[in-house]
Amino acid sequence: MAEIRVRFAPSPTGYLHVGGARTAIFNFLFARASGGTFLLRIEDTDPVRSRGELAQIILDSLRWLGIESDEPVVYQSDRHDRFRQVARELVECGAAYQDFTTPEEIETLRRESQARRESSFRFHADPVKARADAPARLARGEPHAIRFSAPPEDVEWNDLVHGPIKFEGSQIEDFVLLRSDGTPTYHLSVVCDDHDMGVTHVLRGDDHVSNTPKQILIYRAMNWPPPEFGHVPLILGPDKQRLSKRTGATSVGEFKERGFLPPALFNFLTLLGWSPGAGDREIFTVEELKKVFAVSGIQAKSAVFDVAKLEWMNGEHLRMLDDEQALDYLMEHRGEVPVDRERLRRLWPMMKPRLRLPRDLFVDHAYFFSDPREYDPAGAVKHFADANILQRLREYTDDLSRVDTFEPQPLEAHLRAWCETRELSAGKLIHPIRLALTGKIVSPSLFELMVILGRETVLRRLHAALKFTGSP
Ligand code: GLU
Repeated sequence: MAEIRVRFAPSPTGYLHVGGARTAIFNFLFARASGGTFLLRIEDTDPVRSRGELAQIILDSLRWLGIESDEPVVYQSDRHDRFRQVARELVECGAAYQDFTTPEEIETLRRESQARRESSFRFHADPVKARADAPARLARGEPHAIRFSAPPEDVEWNDLVHGPIKFEGSQIEDFVLLRSDGTPTYHLSVVCDDHDMGVTHVLRGDDHVSNTPKQILIYRAMNWPPPEFGHVPLILGPDKQRLSKRTGATSVGEFKERGFLPPALFNFLTLLGWSPGAGDREIFTVEELKKVFAVSGIQAKSAVFDVAKLEWMNGEHLRMLDDEQALDYLMEHRGEVPVDRERLRRLWPMMKPRLRLPRDLFVDHAYFFSDPREYDPAGAVKHFADANILQRLREYTDDLSRVDTFEPQPLEAHLRAWCETRELSAGKLIHPIRLALTGKIVSPSLFELMVILGRETVLRRLHAALKFTGSP
C-alpha cells in the first residue's frame, strides 16, 4: 500500500476545540500507527474570519498535546495563486463557468424557490447561456464568481467510518469556487491543497459530510485521484447536544489551564469515539496508542464528553509520572498557594493515591498550606461539643508540646498511650484533632499530617480550635 498521508486542517477562527483536537489526534495516530505522514494546514483563506494569532494558539495547543506536523505547516493564504490557476483550468475544461449573477439576483432566485416550496434553494445556471454571455461581460469588466457546474449524476463514496454514502446529483448545486473578489472558497482550496500535499485519507468531522460530494466532483473534473474520506461523529455534551460552552470547557487551552496533563487529555479524547477492540482497557500512554490505533475502531455513533471520567483519567496519568515530574507539575499549578517543593515532596506519597487534579490538593486540601478558616459544621456539632472531651483535648495539646520526636510512629504511640492511661478511646481525640487541624471530618493519615504540618502549626491550630469552641 502507498504511504499514508493525512492532515489536520483547522480554520483559525477560534481556539482549538476539543472536537478539533480529537480529529487531529485520530489523524496523528493513524499516521503513526501506519508509518505514514501527518501534516498540518492552516485554512486561513477567509480574511474576515481568520486571525493570525489564533493560528499560533491552535498550533501551540496541538504542540502541548504532543502533535506536530512532520513537514512544514502549510498556510492556505500563501496559495491563492494556485487556487486561481486551478479555477481557471476548471473553466477551461468546461467543468466550471464564470457566473455574473449579482447577489440581488441570487436573492430573488432564492425567494422564488421558497415560493415554489422547494425544500432548499440550489443554484443552477444554464451553463450554455453562461458561456455564451461570458466574453462580452468579461470584456465589460463585470464582476463574476467562478462556479462549478454540478453534473446530474449521483456521487457516492465508501466512508471509512460510516460505510457507503450517496448524494443524489439533484441535491448538489452549482457551488462557487472563486468569489467575485477573487478569493477561493473552502471547496476549491481544500481540494487543491489535499491534492498538492499528497493527502491519501481525509478524516474530519461529520459536519463536513455534505461538503464531500462537491469536493469529489472537483477531483473528478481535475482528473485527480480522490483521497479516502472518513467522517468522525461530533462530540456531545452531557445534555446530549453538540458540545458547547454552555455545559463546560470546550477549548484545549482551558483544560491546560485547569491543570490537566497532556497525555491524559490525549488518552481521553482518543477513547471518545474510538475503541481499541477487545477488552475494556481505558488507560493508554500516547506511545501505546501510536501502536494500537486503527481507523476501523472509530465508532459511527456520537460520544458524550464526560468530564468526571477525564478527571479520573488525569489522576491515573498523574500516578504514572515519576516523582520529580509529579512535583514539577504540582509546583507549576500551585497558583497563589504558598508552598515549596520540599513540602510537596513530603505530601506527595500521602496524596498520590487520591489526586485527580492539582485543585484537589490546593483547594480541597488547602489545610496543608494554610490554617482552616472554618470547621465542618456537622463535624463541629459532633466533635467539638462535649466539654469533657474538650478538656482532654486541652490537656493533650499541652502534653504534645513535650513529645520529643515529632514523627508519625512516636506521635501515634504517644496519643494511644495518653488515651489509655485516661481510659479514653483514641477515636474520641483523633476526630476533634483532625477537625481542628483540617477543618474537615476526613483527611489522610492524621499522624503523617501532623508531621507535615509541624509541631508549631499543629499546636497553633489546636489552640485556635479550643478558642473557637469557647472551652475554658
Ligand atoms: N478547515 C475545516 C474546519 O476547520 C476543515 C476542513 C477539512 O478538514 O477538510 O472545519
